[in-house]
Amino acid sequence: MSLYPHTFTPLEIHGNKLKNRIVMGSMHTGLEDYLSYKKLAAYFKTRAEGDVGLMITGGFSPNFRGRLTPIASQLSNFTQVSKHRTVTNAVHESGGKIILQILHAGRYAHHPFLVAPSAIKAPIVKYTPKELTTSQVEKTISHFVRCAKLAKKSGYDGVEIMGSEGYFINQFISKRTNHRTDRFGGSFEKRIHLPLEILRRTREELGDKFLIIYRISALDLVKEGSTAEEVLHLAKECEQAGASILNTGIGWHEARIPTIAAMVPRAAFQFITKELKNNVSVPTIAVNRFNNPDDIETCLRDGFSDLVSMARPFLADPNFVKKMKEHKKEEINTCIACNQACLDHIFELKRASCLVNPLACYETEYKIEKSHIEKKILIVGAGPAGLSCALTLAERGHKVHIIDKNSEIGGQFNLAKVVPSKSEFYETLRYYSVMLKKLNVKLSLETEYSQEMNQDYDEVVFATGVSPRIPKIQGIDHEKVVVYKDVLSGKVKVGEKVAIIGGGGIGLDTATYLLEHQLNFYDFWGIDKTVKSEGGLTEQTNVKSLRDITIFQRSAGKFGKGLGKTTVWAHRIALKKEGLKFINNVQYKLIDDEGLHFIKDGRDQKLNVDHIIICSGQTSYRPVSEGRFIGGAKNAQAIDAKRAIKEGFELGLEL
Ligand code: NAP
Ligand code: SF4
Repeated sequence: MSLYPHTFTPLEIHGNKLKNRIVMGSMHTGLEDYLSYKKLAAYFKTRAEGDVGLMITGGFSPNFRGRLTPIASQLSNFTQVSKHRTVTNAVHESGGKIILQILHAGRYAHHPFLVAPSAIKAPIVKYTPKELTTSQVEKTISHFVRCAKLAKKSGYDGVEIMGSEGYFINQFISKRTNHRTDRFGGSFEKRIHLPLEILRRTREELGDKFLIIYRISALDLVKEGSTAEEVLHLAKECEQAGASILNTGIGWHEARIPTIAAMVPRAAFQFITKELKNNVSVPTIAVNRFNNPDDIETCLRDGFSDLVSMARPFLADPNFVKKMKEHKKEEINTCIACNQACLDHIFELKRASCLVNPLACYETEYKIEKSHIEKKILIVGAGPAGLSCALTLAERGHKVHIIDKNSEIGGQFNLAKVVPSKSEFYETLRYYSVMLKKLNVKLSLETEYSQEMNQDYDEVVFATGVSPRIPKIQGIDHEKVVVYKDVLSGKVKVGEKVAIIGGGGIGLDTATYLLEHQLNFYDFWGIDKTVKSEGGLTEQTNVKSLRDITIFQRSAGKFGKGLGKTTVWAHRIALKKEGLKFINNVQYKLIDDEGLHFIKDGRDQKLNVDHIIICSGQTSYRPVSEGRFIGGAKNAQAIDAKRAIKEGFELGLEL
C-alpha cells in the first residue's frame, strides 16, 4: 500500500490521463534560449523517466516583443516545430506528458522593444515600455493563439498561459499597470478581457482535448493588486472560457516580499489555492516551497489543491517522484531553496543548474559511468566538496573511504544549518548520510589525516575546507573578539551588543542567527491571508531584534555583494526591519576594552560592544603542502557550497 495514496491517485482531464498528482512547474533553464534542443530534450527525458505526472516547459514568448531577454526563446513560426518535436518525442517515449508555457514578459522584458498595456516602467527593469494600441493588443492575442497552435503541432499535450507573476497578462489585469481607456482597460471586467479572450480563442482553435492551464495570479503582493473577490471572479470566468486547469501564481516579481526563498515556510501559499479550489470545478495546482513528499501528500489529502507543482526540486533530484513512489524518501536530494545555481544563473544569463546536483541541465555533458578499474580512494574532509566527490566516486564503482576530524559530516553545512532561514541544509546532510551508507562508502569520523595513510590508497583527495581569515587589526587578540564559527557552532555565547566585521554572506547569516526569535512569516512581511485588501497586502508587524547588532565593511558598496540577486534583497530588508545597523566605508583602527574603534567619514569613532565577531572571509586549510585539493582547500576565494559540490562531483567523474 502506498504511503502517499492521494499523490498517486491518477487524474483524468479532458481525456488526458495523468499518472500522479505531481507537476513539474515551469522553470527557465537557459537551454531554451540557445536553442539547445537536444540538451533540453535530455533534461526533460530524465525527469519524465523519474515518473513526473506532468511537466511544463520554461516560458516561450508568443512574439518578438514579448521575449524576456534579448536572447530569450520564442515560438512563433512553423520552422521551430521540428526542434520542439525533439523535446516532446523524448518525453512521450519515456511515458511523460509535457506542456509548453506561453509567457509574454510585457514591461518585464529586459530589452528596449518592450510593450505593455500602459507606458509605465517596472521598478526592476531599466526600459519604459511602449503602450500597445487596441489593434496591437488584438494582434498579440492572435499571437498567443498561434503559439498554442504551434505547440500542438510540436506534440505538446497542452499549453500553460502565464497570467501571473506580474507579466504581460497580469499587467492588463491590475490597475497598477493598466491605465487604458479602450475595451482592455478601465473596470475590472474590462481589464480581464485580455486573458479571457486568449483562453476562449485558444480553446476554440485547439479543441476539447488540448490541455490549457491558466496560471492565475492568486496573490499579487503589490499595491493596487487584485482582491480575493476579483481573483475568484476571474477564476470562474477562466473556467468558462476554456481553462482545463488553474495553476496558482504568487507575487509579482517587483513585490518586495519573498515567495520562494528559503526564508519562506514550506507550503506557505497553499491556503490561497484552497480558495480557488473551493470556487471552481476544474483541477487546481498548489505551488511554491514544496520540496518534500509529506507536504505534498498533506496538501492533497487536506483538500488544498488537486495537484502540486514543484520546479526547483526536480533540478535537485529528477527522481523525486520515483523515490517517493518506491518509499525511498530518505534518498531524495532535497532542494534547499537557495536559488544559487538556478534562478541566480538565469538572472546572469547563464545556464541553470543546481547547487546540490551539478548534473542538472548538463545531462548530455556529464556522464556518471562505471570505471574500468576499481581504485581505493581516500577523501580527507567530509564537507560539501568531500561528500560530493565520495558519492560520485562510489557510484562509479570505486572503493571510497572518507575521513573527518570532526564528530559529524557536513563541514561548513553544520554552521549554515543553524541559521533560521537555512534549516534546509539539514536535508542535504540527511541525503549525504543516507547515500554514503547506500553506496558503501566507509566513513571514519574524529579521525585525523596522517601521511602514513597514503600507502593504503591509489588516490588521496584533500577536501579539508577553510579556516576563518583573521584580519590584521590592532587588538585582534582581545577577549571580546570571536570568530563566526565559534558563534554558529554554539561554542561561544555573545552578549547583547555586537559588532560584526565583514558584511558578506557569513556576516549576514551570523546576524540572522543572532536575532534569536521566531517570526511569523505572514505578519513580518505583511501578507493578508484573507486577501480582502488589494494585492493581499497588510500592515507589516514591527519586530525589533533584542540584540544591538552593527555590521561593518571596509568597501563602499552594498552589504552581501557576492550573494545571489534573487534572495539578497530579502535578507537586507529583513535585517533592516529588525533594526540592524550597517556601516560601510570604514577603516578599522583598534579593538580594546571599550569596543571597536574605527574611522568613518574621516572621523574617529567608537562602538562599545560586548563582542566583535569576525566574518571577514576565509583561507584554505591544507594539512599537506602538495596534493589533490578540491573546494575551499583548493581556493578559498569566494568559496561556497555550489563550487565545493561541483568540484567534488567533477573530480569524482575524472578519477
Ligand atoms: P565574503 O562574502 O567574501 O565576505 C567577506 C567580508 O569580509 C566582506 O564583507 C569583506 O568586506 C570583509 N573582509 C574581507 N577581507 C577583510 C579583511 N582583511 N579585513 C576586514 N574585513 C575583510 O566571505 P564570507 O562571508 O566568508 O562568505 C564566503 C563565501 O560563501 C562567499 O562566496 C559567500 O558568497 C558564500 N556564502 C553564501 C551565502 C548565501 O546565502 N548564498 C551565505 C554565506 C556565505 P570588505 O573587504 O569591504 O571589508
Ligand atoms: Fe534548489 Fe538551490 Fe538547486 Fe536551485 S540551486 S534547485 S534552489 S537546491
